[in-house]
Amino acid sequence: MPITHYKIDMYNVDYTCDKCGKGVMRPLRDGIQMVDQTKGIPHKCNNDMCLHVDMLKINYPFQMAVKEGDEVKLADDEENPEADA
Ligand SMILES: [Zn+2]
Repeated sequence: MPITHYKIDMYNVDYTCDKCGKGVMRPLRDGIQMVDQTKGIPHKCNNDMCLHVDMLKINYPFQMAVKEGDEVKLADDEENPEADA
């Protein structure tokens, strides 16, 4: 297999709070062991005025690398079924 290389763009993917729209969701580390992870990972809004807790499928934030010029594709989220714009 010939060696090849290309540039990548790095993206940080974060989840904005559904409730306040200001904070971002951060994993609730303490809750992880006690929770059935098939239902999601508990996250809490980092906005002190909100502190909304929600179950998310993925641990946020995370980084992803995309080949330079390629579209960023994120897995469909139940909460944003129309998010393919
Ligand atoms: Zn919030």
